[in-house]
Amino acid sequence: MTRPDLHLHTTASDGIYNAEQLARLVQRASVTMFSVTDHDTMAALPEAADAAYDRGLAFLPGVEISTEGDEEVHILGYGVRYDDEVLQACFRQAAEDRKNRILGMAEKLKNLRLPLSMEDVLARAGSSVGRPHLARAMYDRGYVNSVQQAFELYLGKGRCAYLPRVTMTAAQAISLLRDRGAVPVLAHPGQIRWPIEKLLPKLKIWQEAGLRGIEVYHPANQLNYPYWDRLARERGLLVTGGSDFHDGRGRSHGQIGETAEFWPNACDDAWALYRAANKNQKP
Ligand SMILES: [Zn+2]
Ligand SMILES: [Zn+2]
Repeated sequence: MTRPDLHLHTTASDGIYNAEQLARLVQRASVTMFSVTDHDTMAALPEAADAAYDRGLAFLPGVEISTEGDEEVHILGYGVRYDDEVLQACFRQAAEDRKNRILGMAEKLKNLRLPLSMEDVLARAGSSVGRPHLARAMYDRGYVNSVQQAFELYLGKGRCAYLPRVTMTAAQAISLLRDRGAVPVLAHPGQIRWPIEKLLPKLKIWQEAGLRGIEVYHPANQLNYPYWDRLARERGLLVTGGSDFHDGRGRSHGQIGETAEFWPNACDDAWALYRAANKNQKP
């Protein structure tokens, strides 16, 4: 029986283990098929594929695209090619947009007489800069009493140094992935803050744009697994699942392999996705 975990992060985005270390942990957790799905980057995929091969594990290359700005709808793409230049250019643009937003927010802070060294902020960030890095720098400069206070007073939505996130829409990300031969899947619907009356019509639009699956078995959906499982199958969508492991801490990110425990058809569903992802990539 295949035991899948199809949603894992590495140091290429905000995970704490590199691909080789992650593959070791995957094997230790008795997971036999895994996917690396870093945020807006495919940088870890070659190393992850090698590490999987060395251990005799099935591997599905993936990516997780942030869409819909602050609404934070995440779209997973399975079967992406790490050397796809169109996707790489999109992810470079996404990184640029993220950086420009933070530079813009720092500029606002400067006008509020709260200057920060951007070198320092960017050095904290590694590959992906975000508001937490600004907040931490503000705390270190003594501008706020806590990181939380930085958000409450300055960086949170609608606060005086806030700027909205610039991203693709979910439909754009879905079409992009489809056009690049990948399988687009809606990540953790339970984490989307929209009411279900807003989400369901969107799902229809996304399916028309090429959405092929829903990530049902994710820690954020834990209370509603039967609901999402039924909905996906009724609509002819693939059922996928993964822990969203980053570092083994936090509420919405699980431990490697944990969602497979709750996933009755894990083996068949995972191979259906695997086949779909590989079929698409045939020239
Ligand atoms: Zn996500
Ligand atoms: Zn994730």
